[in-house]
Amino acid sequence: MITLLITSSFAGCFGDTLDGEEERGVSGGLALACLQDDKFEKMEIHFLHEPGYAPIAMDLVKTRLQEVCDKPDGIKIVSEEIDFKIDSTWSSDDVRDARWKHGGDAMGSDTLHWYLLFPAGKYEDDSVLGVAVDASTIAIFKDSVDEAEGLFGRPSSEEVERAVSVHEVGHLLGLVNLVYTSPIDHEDSGHPGHSNNDNSVMYWAIESNNVGNFITGSLPDEFDDDDKSDLQGMASGSIKCNRQLWS
Ligand SMILES: [Zn+2]
Repeated sequence: MITLLITSSFAGCFGDTLDGEEERGVSGGLALACLQDDKFEKMEIHFLHEPGYAPIAMDLVKTRLQEVCDKPDGIKIVSEEIDFKIDSTWSSDDVRDARWKHGGDAMGSDTLHWYLLFPAGKYEDDSVLGVAVDASTIAIFKDSVDEAEGLFGRPSSEEVERAVSVHEVGHLLGLVNLVYTSPIDHEDSGHPGHSNNDNSVMYWAIESNNVGNFITGSLPDEFDDDDKSDLQGMASGSIKCNRQLWS
């Protein structure tokens, strides 16, 4: 799920000094920063998790980013245990607040930093397994992921977590049509920002708690050819990107 800021994240703070505070952007707003190496030659993926909620897909997320992003000096995993102090219901604002409280800027000198939060508790819409809330922040709700496990473990909660983790990172990369318009008709008309291909990790049902009812067999944990074609076009400049924090 992609959530947009309706009001400024600084609402209520006008008058306070915001000097040095970084613009947070929309999901996809740091897509080019990842896909190209012009400014950021390195990347760190920060996994902030509640005790007992260690992510299982850290290497997979790194691999998927390595497949599409240009980071000649490498992509590093940073894992940190955090007591988020919220273990019931999370709003998008709660996710943003927690990330910017516990994490640092997204744009360090030559290092791009993305944050993946794994809190205890559920999203306010408890059918949602994961959210992307700004240009560098996503959250995966493992309590909901565990409950999304299908009958006889098909799909298993591990499989769901892997798929959802890559799916939300895909939103940070701007998929599908978040910050560009694809020349290929693969966005699901009923589910904006998502793929209509159930073999793509960007398929709309991936982040839904009844994913097992929509996909039989194994869940995709990879971008499909259309997703990859979009990312390549964005990286090369043949597809124009908008709303970039840096380009
Ligand atoms: Zn989604």
